[in-house]
Amino acid sequence: MKPFTYERATSPAQAAAAAAREPRTKFIAGGTNLLDLMKIEVEAPDHLVDINGLGLDSIEATADGGLRIGALVRNTDLAADSRVRREYGLLTRALVAGASGQLRNKATTAGNLLQRTRCPYFYDTHQACNKRLPGSGCAALGGFSRSHAIVGVSNACIAVHPSDMAVAMRALDATVETVQPDGKTRRIALAEFYKLPGATPHIENVLAPAELITAVTLPRPVGGRHIYHKVRDRASYAFALVSVAAIIQPDGSGRVALGGVAPMPWRTEAADARMGDGAKAVTSVLLAQAKTTPQNAMKVPLVERTLAAVMAEARS
Ligand code: SF4
Repeated sequence: MKPFTYERATSPAQAAAAAAREPRTKFIAGGTNLLDLMKIEVEAPDHLVDINGLGLDSIEATADGGLRIGALVRNTDLAADSRVRREYGLLTRALVAGASGQLRNKATTAGNLLQRTRCPYFYDTHQACNKRLPGSGCAALGGFSRSHAIVGVSNACIAVHPSDMAVAMRALDATVETVQPDGKTRRIALAEFYKLPGATPHIENVLAPAELITAVTLPRPVGGRHIYHKVRDRASYAFALVSVAAIIQPDGSGRVALGGVAPMPWRTEAADARMGDGAKAVTSVLLAQAKTTPQNAMKVPLVERTLAAVMAEARS
């Protein structure tokens, strides 16, 4: 591991200002992804700003009937919160489908949103990877691509975003709150938060340098059946080949977001509008621009079958 300096931040704005002073700074909270990446020098920050002491670890009701989830709320605590279990069951189900109990005890809400892809070539510094080293190529394009993305991809990168929680947050219309080094705050809809890879797959979201996530807010509950189905190669501690997060109302209308198929949680308004028309219709809209490899083409029928199972469960 490359040597680095370390400090503990005393306030969110001070953390962002500290990160702005040294360009190669990373915030650290749970560290469940960052420390692994530092050990293999895929991440090599010169400075770490520890944000664990900032007190951003509460879940509060908002004035409009929603919830404000502090950036440092641990995944275990978020999944177990009685309001989340009762009103946002999709989020609890997605959280407990992710990682392991030990990791969920450490991993934070903001860190979960910002975790890096699990593309094996990203983690292998002997392989070409435009996300790790811009301009070096993409070993996955001609390599092992069974777990890779089928929509939102580019010729530079076909990696998927690995989070389960983010898929549920996208279906729930979450908003990210941030603070910048000058103390200004902003709110970013999760729908606008992630960036597609295009020619710059190393830029994964719209955060400015040193901008710190302070909270994620959820709008007031929308009711309906909340179902999260995750299809993976083994029953636990594995990333999704395909996941479906759906909220389905008694009349069959609803909304759906996909995981495991794109560089971001994948949801479209056009697909939501077809929820009453069945899994085949919704899948054809969600995956209209699919660009598959011979190894991951199976994800198209897998999405349709998984969505059909979700819709059947909602009717049961
Ligand atoms: Fe790197 Fe993306 Fe290609 Fe994987 S898919 S090797 S992360 S550029």
